[in-house]
Amino acid sequence: IFIAFEGGEGSGKTTQSRLLAIWLRDQGFDVVQTREPGSTKVGMRLRAILLDAAHQGLSPRSEALLYAADRAEHVEKVIMPALTRGAVVVTDRYVDSSLAYQGAGRSLDRAEVVRLNGWATGGLVPDLTVLIDVPPSVGLTRFASPADRIESEPLEFHERVRREFRALAAAEPDRYVVIDGTLTQAEVNRLIQDRVREILPD
Ligand code: C5P
Ligand code: MG
Repeated sequence: IFIAFEGGEGSGKTTQSRLLAIWLRDQGFDVVQTREPGSTKVGMRLRAILLDAAHQGLSPRSEALLYAADRAEHVEKVIMPALTRGAVVVTDRYVDSSLAYQGAGRSLDRAEVVRLNGWATGGLVPDLTVLIDVPPSVGLTRFASPADRIESEPLEFHERVRREFRALAAAEPDRYVVIDGTLTQAEVNRLIQDRVREILPD
């Protein structure tokens, strides 16, 4: 079972994916909790390049290719081996982040970003994607100051990202659950558990 968390900055994906992993382990599942970018040796170096504030103005195509390279490593070295042995994989971000950030955010052609990522991942699609939806005006104020190159982007950039995530969820309602990320941590956690329970084997 492969579960992805998606959402904008400060949406609480990291916290909620950790809480979900703990809950699944409590129920006896073998769980691999992971994230993008940066969950492999090469991926950690790609993450450093991608988030470095000194790389303002990185070409959108280079950015898309570097995220795709990170994702190819992630799928081949971490996600597929875990799924093959029967583990539940919970990832903080996956392909839809590239559609939202590199596609909508950087104005790359959506179909091209889809194709690039289909190739990078060998076509691996999550069983369930949890979108934690928060207005950027709320999410961005959850940290004191921008921590990386992308968090420093203007509000309009983050609005485009959010709109794309919501459009992706609306287009694939069976694969997606959209959770209101302005609810309390406990409420968000419970809503996610309720949806995940539906895809677990008994
Ligand atoms: O999720 P996390 O905040 O750790 O992600 C690191 C940064 O990478 C974020 O600021 C996010 O906006 C950015 N990112 C991106 N495109 C992706 C994945 C992440 O711009 N495909
Ligand atoms: Mg961030």
